Amino acid sequence: MRHYRIASIPADGIGPEVIAAGLEVLEALAARDGGFVLDVDHYDWSSAYYRKHGVFMPDDGLAILKQADAIYFGAVGAQDVPDHISLWGLRLPICQGFDQYANIRPTRVLPGVVSPLRDVGPGDLDWLIVRENSEGEYSGHGGRAHRGLPEEVATEVAIFTRVGVERIMRYAFASARKRPRQHLTVVTKSNAQKFGLVLWDEIALEVAADFPDVTWDKELVDAMTMRMVRKPQSVDTVVATNLHADILSDLAAALAGSLGVAPTGNVDPSRRYPSMFEPIHGSAFDITGKGIANPVASFWTASLMLEHLGEARAAAALMVAVEQVCAAGILTPDVGGNATTKEVTRAMVEAIKGGNLG
Ligand code: NAD
Ligand code: MN
Repeated sequence: MRHYRIASIPADGIGPEVIAAGLEVLEALAARDGGFVLDVDHYDWSSAYYRKHGVFMPDDGLAILKQADAIYFGAVGAQDVPDHISLWGLRLPICQGFDQYANIRPTRVLPGVVSPLRDVGPGDLDWLIVRENSEGEYSGHGGRAHRGLPEEVATEVAIFTRVGVERIMRYAFASARKRPRQHLTVVTKSNAQKFGLVLWDEIALEVAADFPDVTWDKELVDAMTMRMVRKPQSVDTVVATNLHADILSDLAAALAGSLGVAPTGNVDPSRRYPSMFEPIHGSAFDITGKGIANPVASFWTASLMLEHLGEARAAAALMVAVEQVCAAGILTPDVGGNATTKEVTRAMVEAIKGGNLG
């Protein structure tokens, strides 16, 4: 029997609702598969924890998480805590402390879910965005001086290192190689950002030589937004900087129908540390506690986690179940249905228990 230790951090807002749903589905999958067991440790690190303790996680938080094989994360952010405090208090220390330098964001139009793009259905939009997750525009380098004065100044320095760019480029080419179309688009803004992003272009060219079976092209980030909307079929795998890919992946999630279905993984490809898997969406204050949060993003997230753990068969079965449940019209309001989180979860568990998942 294969054992995996999962650290669950549901955190804030709808996080606890969708992570509970995801854990229920994972348990059903493990029971169905029979070959693996998930041992789940639950952590209450969140904005509520911060109000009580003044920190988002204990001092030895990373040492505790390091014992896990993977981290299953909900969302962090509360209305009475500034977002940069919560983000830098919990998610970013994990991403950076565990060198999760590859952020992966698969996007597809699921059956039953309507894309805002006319004539785009399942199959027309099937992307994997690879986001550099350790440096670039979100390095936390910069400062402020002359606070409050008319001559106040703030800098936000984007850091690009050869090591950082090369490793994400290799990961992106290797990811593209595993996909059916084997095509990578390298996104930059190397016309205007003439140092760091010209380095990206140069390194892309160098790394491409090691992947002769992957075709690739380049796109500037502004043009890329148009291409994603106008010619979604021309896009397969995408690699971009921390900031650019952050924005492109929200666009991707919207074009696929809803933030409520979009998953992501913060991966340490070297496997020195546990990787962290989470829905892309945030705390969703407007629907917290209403029981209507879409759990599909956390299901898809769970599938990415299983794949990373080496349980490819269960990961694929989970996505077949998601597609069956969506195709049957069992959808939450954000994707045009009237089912509750619990109803979608129950349908998933039934599909996993009884269904033919290939
Ligand atoms: P959000 O993702 O929380 O919500 C945006 C909109 O999408 C809302 O209308 C919400 O109801 C809807 N939505 C999101 N997920 C949904 C789901 N599963 N089902 C149905 N509808 C869903 O983004 P926001 O409003 O910009 O941010 C709210 C808080 O969450 C902020 O504090 C922000 O910092 C935080 N946040 C955290 C993360 C994270 O932890 N990774 C990501 C984004 C935002
Ligand atoms: Mn974002």
